[in-house]
Amino acid sequence: MKTHDTPHPSTTLIKKSVSSGFASLGLETQLLTTLGKLGYEEPTPIQQEAIPPLLAGRDLIGRAATGTGKTAAFTLPLLQRLAHSTRQQNPFALILVPTRELAIQVSEAVHRYGKEQGIAVLAVYGGAAIRPQLIALKRGVEVVVATPGRALDHIRRKSLQLKDLQIVILDEADEMLNMGFAEDLDAILQQTPKTRQTALFSATMPPRIASIAKRHLRDAVDIHIVKEPVKAGVAPQVHQTGYLVSRANKVGALVRILDMGTPTSALVFCRTRIEVDELISTLNGRGYRSEGIHGGLNQAQRDRVMASFRSGKTNLLVATDVAARGLDISHVSHVLNYDVPSSPEAYVHRIGRTGRAGRSGHAITLVEPREQWLLKNIERLTKSKIEMATLPTVADLQAKRLEGIGTAIQEILTANKFERFRKVVNTLTENFDPADVAAAAMQLAYGSKTGDRKEEEIPVIRDRAPESSQRTRVSRQELHERPRSAKPRAKASKPGGDRGGPSVPMTTLNFSAGREAGIGPGDLVGAIANEAGLPSSMIGPIKIGDQFSLVKVPTELARDIMKALGRTRIKGKKVSIRLDRE
Ligand code: AMP
Repeated sequence: MKTHDTPHPSTTLIKKSVSSGFASLGLETQLLTTLGKLGYEEPTPIQQEAIPPLLAGRDLIGRAATGTGKTAAFTLPLLQRLAHSTRQQNPFALILVPTRELAIQVSEAVHRYGKEQGIAVLAVYGGAAIRPQLIALKRGVEVVVATPGRALDHIRRKSLQLKDLQIVILDEADEMLNMGFAEDLDAILQQTPKTRQTALFSATMPPRIASIAKRHLRDAVDIHIVKEPVKAGVAPQVHQTGYLVSRANKVGALVRILDMGTPTSALVFCRTRIEVDELISTLNGRGYRSEGIHGGLNQAQRDRVMASFRSGKTNLLVATDVAARGLDISHVSHVLNYDVPSSPEAYVHRIGRTGRAGRSGHAITLVEPREQWLLKNIERLTKSKIEMATLPTVADLQAKRLEGIGTAIQEILTANKFERFRKVVNTLTENFDPADVAAAAMQLAYGSKTGDRKEEEIPVIRDRAPESSQRTRVSRQELHERPRSAKPRAKASKPGGDRGGPSVPMTTLNFSAGREAGIGPGDLVGAIANEAGLPSSMIGPIKIGDQFSLVKVPTELARDIMKALGRTRIKGKKVSIRLDRE
């Protein structure tokens, strides 16, 4: 294995200018067109680093987590190499991923990036009917995205032919090992052609990953993450908050935050042009005055948008990172990250837009569950604390609005400018209590403020993210794929095992069902992972008795897990859980 010996810009501390864009990385017109259509303006650090060597056919080890743009980092070169290859019946590339969700997600990404090329991609995972997969494989696909267990199944059935494979990608390799797929990976890789190109991506690089890389990769380019704090420094007067929210509720969450915070001027950051355009039309549709700025605008359009923002005609500016880079804005009260930015530098750059010149500012980040790892990384590298908060409820919003009306009424009373309404009030108070009249007037004012907009409660996702985890949900089917021989959770007090995380105190949970109810370790891990959002790597040893099961979990999460599993059935059986006092 070889490491770049030139001063190696890390994936997090990129020094090169990124404005040269995707073309300078060697990507060709077809893919550049697709990326343009997707609204991508510049490569993320991992894309900058990984795309050129992958295009050149090199093996590669990349340390990158979800949210950094790693899927495009390996998919774009794969697609370009596929475009230059001769057509073949058997699959050209195999992408191995730990879970069914990721298999679907990655296959969708391959489809999206390969749209112009008309790529045939298939996701193959456990827990789903095998027949449709057999039929699709027989018909012929160019890229297979598979979980290891199901991939092996197809290999044994000879429905998945590896002999013409030219590229193998191992995505989230550490998770695959944590889920006990080490032997499966070896078995699969051994059956692939020696001439293949192999890339391995992993959020962490424990020795077991290094050993897989040593066995299966040749002269690999190693993309480092330099664990140094980001120099740019976060302005101390910026108050940083994060809200955990599912993708489906992001617009609602943003609107709620805007309504509660009433920012005087806010810069909202999105990753792509498309997101910028979609968000401004949604916001304006809901009565906000927002405008967007991105690399797709010409100078005159940019000038107009900026003039409107500076004059206060619009108070929400929605921007991509590239577009915001050149903006001359002296101060904004709020920076809102619609997505967690793909690198700590981008985060620091974004939030540096507020809290300038000694004034205080707010930086608010919407975090999808799968992006929590990225946020932890940003906190660590920027040495700053991002406080996770709960989204205001509809009741909070209503209280805030009423408070606003109350304040406005107080101002009118102080200014004593309501003479022309006195006559109608006098008439009303002849028949009604004056306090009732005032309350009815407030109701009217409240209604005119909110119109007929119906506020909906945004489901709360509790912060379940352990530091070392990048995924919060693990598919139950995938956990069933866990090979019996694997001992992924051997170390009682060290969840995260290979990740090298610190030892944490563990507590044993006693489940009221066991072997006689047909319960196996996979069911328990699946239930905890799915219901409590705890990654499998955080779960300690499991003991299955005839009528009970014992599972070790981190002590500080034990009560949350019990609560989350309160109403869950395991294998169709209602199971009660208590702390085991041994
Ligand atoms: P990933 O880390 O591959 O899961 O990507 C995270 C998200 O970033 C996905 O929604 C991608 O569509 C998006 N993305 C990836 N690369 C870029 C880029 N260069 N510019 C903007 N968005 C990107």
